[in-house]
Formats: sequence, structure tokens, C-alpha cells
Amino acid sequence: MESDFVWRKQSVNKPLLRKVHIKLTLLCSGITIAILVIMSIFYLYISETNLYINEIHAFKNRTNTFRTNLEQQTIISHEWLLATEVENDCYIELRDNGEDFLFNHRIEHTKRNEIFNTARDNFSSPIINKKQSFEIEATFLYQKQTYVAYLGTFQNKMNQLEYLIIFNTARIEHQIVHQRYIFLGINIVAAIVLFLFSYYFTRHLLHPIRISQENQNQFVACASHELRTPLAVILSCSSAGMKATTEEKNDFLQTIESEGMRMTRLVNDMLLLAKTDNHTLTIKKDLHEPDTLLLNSFEAFEPFAKEKKIKLLISLPDEMIEPCMMDKDRISQVLAILIHNALSYTPINGMVTLSITHSAKYIEYSVADTGIGIPDTKKKEIFKRFYRISEARTDNSHSGLGLSIAFEIVQTHHGSIRVFDTPGGGSTFIVTLPKYV
Ligand code: ADP
Repeated sequence: MESDFVWRKQSVNKPLLRKVHIKLTLLCSGITIAILVIMSIFYLYISETNLYINEIHAFKNRTNTFRTNLEQQTIISHEWLLATEVENDCYIELRDNGEDFLFNHRIEHTKRNEIFNTARDNFSSPIINKKQSFEIEATFLYQKQTYVAYLGTFQNKMNQLEYLIIFNTARIEHQIVHQRYIFLGINIVAAIVLFLFSYYFTRHLLHPIRISQENQNQFVACASHELRTPLAVILSCSSAGMKATTEEKNDFLQTIESEGMRMTRLVNDMLLLAKTDNHTLTIKKDLHEPDTLLLNSFEAFEPFAKEKKIKLLISLPDEMIEPCMMDKDRISQVLAILIHNALSYTPINGMVTLSITHSAKYIEYSVADTGIGIPDTKKKEIFKRFYRISEARTDNSHSGLGLSIAFEIVQTHHGSIRVFDTPGGGSTFIVTLPKYV
């Protein structure tokens, strides 16, 4: 049966990652929102202070204009004062020797009188009868509203009078409240945007960890799956061996030994991959002749090729290739994986050709077979751990880790490994290694 070895999605550590994701989102958005709020409050404070100062400045200017006008008037009429009040949005009271002058005595208005009385209460020293003209300012509260009052004297052509001008700050307060609402709205929208941004940003940040964790989980699942088979065979052989005859016992022991060796290989392969993951794989680079290495691998696999009735050929360049920096054992391991695969996936009477070429900086090993070939869609997949195009076609020496190990070893040598179709059918693996890195 032909079936793809499917990597199962694991969800073992998903709750943990989700917790980390939520915590990171809250931390990220919390900090940025806190900074935003602090900055907004700071801005509002400055803006409100400026608004208030400007408005007070405007009150003061209006009072000065009013005072100048008063000083120039020969006749101060009730209509003029009324028009000035409306124009400047204020209350005006004029007094002569403590008595209402011209304007206020005509108007019976309790609220107005109360405001004037409250304002006067806020000026500490009485100023009546002072000969020199002056002006003082006070701020007071009346019915929860803030007022600014200016009390002063002026000398016009006729006599010296006292004036009291009161401005209501409700307009600024309204402006300030309006501005606060706008900022509140902006901050709420910004907080939502920042939260969403943090959510997606941290998710993106955690993506490699999630992938690595999933890979790790898949690796453990595949490893236990692979180890379970030889273990089951060993256990059944040992229990059957106990009741078997001496002759049968030998067969069972042989199977136990071969399955034990398979497990050892598998565990060694997994340890090697774990070391490459932790970057603890030791590479002992030295100067070695790359063609001699290929020749040794060729000789090692000749009997196996003969047994499988496959023609194993080697093509070496005429001139000697100078020694290159490499870990002899690891590169031999890569060649062994490729040659073993080529011989395993090539049918009887097929051919496997080993060759080496070189340039100034690189050497290139090639293992070409006339075997079953690898579909284009699987050419990337085969370098994944435990990936097998078809489990049915291999013997128990194939666990699906060979090419991933070859890939990691080549990577640690700063090289590359690629696969192409052999012209006429089959696969060709090319390993490129730098000569001196
Ligand atoms: P395995 O131990 O199963 O050979 P590898 O990692 O070495 O694992 O190879 C992964 C898969 O790639 C194999 O199961 C096989 O399907 C495919 N493969 C590898 N080499 C060849 C080859 N020379 N020809 C055809 N298929 C191959």
C-alpha cells in the first residue's frame, strides 16, 4: 500500500503557548496604552493650562479696553454699559464712593447682585477712597461655576469711580470638557488598535516557537512510533523464544539482535539530530582528500550493491583533488546515507554512479541512480525528519531520518544538498561543500 507519511499536528503545548501569547499581548498593549494615556494627560494638562492662561489674558485685555473707554468718556450712559456687557459677555458694576453709579441701581436682579457680592468678598482689602488708580484680580466660585473678577478705580474727566468686571469661565470649561471627551475617544480607539496590533504582533513573534514546538512534538511522536515496532518485535520474539526449541531460539535471537541494532541506529540518529538542534554537534574538521573519501565509501558499498544486483560505478577526476577541510567521519556518513538510499530505491539491474568534481572553492559529490525517482512535489519534503514517500518500499533499515541527518551535517559544513532527476529516470543527489571553510 502506498501511503504518505503524514506529520500529525500536535496540540500538547498549545494551552501554554496561548497563555504566553495572552500575557505578552497584555504586557505589550498595557505598556503602550499606559504610555499613550500618560502622554495624553500631559498634553491635556499643558493644553488646558494654555487655554486658561489665554482666556485670562483675553479677559484682562477686555478689561483694559473697557477701562480706557471709561477714562475717555465724558458721559457714561446706561445703554453704553449694557452694550459693553453684552459685547464682552461679562457683568459690570460701577460705584462712586461705595454707592451704585448709574447702572446697577436700575436693575433688580438677585443672581447678578449675589455674583457681585461674592466677588467683593474675595477681594481682601477694601479699596474705596483710595486716590491712586489701580486694579486687582480675583477668581471665585459661584454656584459651581468659576468667575474671574477685576476690581479697580479710574479717573475720568468728572470724578474717580470704582469698577468691578466679572467674567464667567464656563466657555473655557466647556472647551476643556469637550477636549477631554475627544481625547478619551481617541485613547479608547487607540487602545483597541494597540491591543489588536499587540495580539497579532506577539502571535507573529511566537510563530517560530510554535513551529519549533510542533516539530518537537511531531518528532517525539514519530520517534516513539518508530521505536515501538522493534520493541514489539523484540518482546514477541523473547516470549516466543522461551517456549521454542534450541534451533528456533537461534532464529528468535537473531531477530532480537537485528531489531536491537535497528533501535540503536535509530537512537543514535535521534541523538545526532538533537545535537544539531542544540548546536552541540562536534565537527572535527581537518584536511582530508575528498576523492579518497568517496573511494572508501564506494568500496564499503560494493558488496551490498552486488548483493542487490545493482551496478555501482565511480567516476573520479584524472588529477588529484587537494585535501579539503572537513569532518571525515561526518562526510562519510552523508555519502553512506546517499549511497544506501540509492541502492535501496533502485531496482535489480539498475545503476548507481558516484562522482566528484571540484572548482577553486568547492567540491561537489554526486550520487546518481536509475531508481524509482522522486516526484517534484516531494523533493523538499524528503529532507524532513521521519518523512518517507512510501513506507512499504523500504526495509527496516530506513527510518526516514537519513536525509535530514545528511542535511544537518552538510549545513554544519556550510554546504548544500540538492536533488535532481537523473536523465532517463532516477534521482541524483548533489552535495556541495566549500573546500576550506
Ligand atoms: P529513509 O531512511 O526512509 O531512506 P531518508 O531520509 O534517507 O529516509 O529518505 C527519505 C525518503 O526519501 C525515503 O523514504 C524515500 O522515499 C525518499 N528517497 C531518498 N533517497 C531516494 C532515492 N535515491 N530514490 C528515491 N527515493 C528516495
